[in-house]
Parts: sequence; C-alpha cells; structure tokens
Amino acid sequence: MKTICWKCKREMKSVKDDFHGFSIAGWKCPKCGEIIYDERAIHPILEYFKMKAENKGITATVGVLGESKILRIPKIAEQIYRIGKGDKLRLQLEPEGISIRIKA
Ligand SMILES: [Zn+2]
Repeated sequence: MKTICWKCKREMKSVKDDFHGFSIAGWKCPKCGEIIYDERAIHPILEYFKMKAENKGITATVGVLGESKILRIPKIAEQIYRIGKGDKLRLQLEPEGISIRIKA
C-alpha cells in the first residue's frame, strides 16, 4: 500500500520513528519530512499514557497450565509490543521483583 504525502503528493517512505520513547512504524515524506504514524501502533501507546495519567497500574494475572504457572500478558502490552505465541521474553530477577524485556 502506498502512502502519499498530503502536502507534496510525494510517495512516503516507511520508517521506524520514536513516539514518546516507543519505536513505532510510520511513513515519512522524503521532501517535507511530514510523518504519519500507524494508527494501530499509536492507539495502545496513547491508551497506556492515559492509564498512567489516571494512576491505573497495569497488572498481569498468574494462571495455571498443568504444573506450570503462566503469566497472562495484558492486552495493552500485547498490542504495544506485538507479543505473539512463542515469543521469548527475557526475565530479569531482581530483589524487588521481575522485570520483563521484550527482545530476548
Ligand atoms: Zn511532503
């Protein structure tokens, strides 16, 4: 799908751009530098900032699968990081808790 700059009518290039610290997909005009973000990528990030502003914490519920404990990834995290089945997340065990890194 081609994305055309509304100002210069030039074809925009697909880029990765920084949006509030998150790297998201977008399109950039090679002439005027106008950037359009992928709406599906932006929406969960805005939602997250809204939750943060309202002081709503994001929680993950522990479930049980056979002998294992499983951690349910909240929908908003799934959308922001595009987490899918089989993805490997790196856990860092710290005295005060577990932190999860997306890139294994
Ligand atoms: Zn342009």
